[in-house]
Amino acid sequence: MSNHGSFVTTVNCMDGRVQIPVNEYLINKYKADYVDTITEAGPNKILAENINEVLVDSIKNRLETSIYKHKSNVIAMVGHYDCGGNPAEKEEQIIQIKDSMKLLKTWFKDVEIIGIWVDKNWKVNEL
Ligand SMILES: [Zn+2]
Repeated sequence: MSNHGSFVTTVNCMDGRVQIPVNEYLINKYKADYVDTITEAGPNKILAENINEVLVDSIKNRLETSIYKHKSNVIAMVGHYDCGGNPAEKEEQIIQIKDSMKLLKTWFKDVEIIGIWVDKNWKVNEL
């Protein structure tokens, strides 16, 4: 850890509209130097359904690198308005975020896991 700064981690959508608000929020909240950003199209749907093993394993492998190599101890699970990869309405997406957080907790018991909804004004709302 000595030769680099502090990291936090996000499982975010690949949508270019959500990267900056989420990363800025996490840097401010946790005083982190860097945000490791794991992206898929609608990752809250992918992890909540937990049926596409290839995608789920890929997310898990990248989280392991972030947590064990970069010593991140925070994962932010993100869903957002107008998601191309996850057409579900907000209420359903919030449930998917929470289900995803439960799965993440089974993988990483000592890591803080938070949920984020990015709204139609591209504002971050922590769940
Ligand atoms: Zn999206």
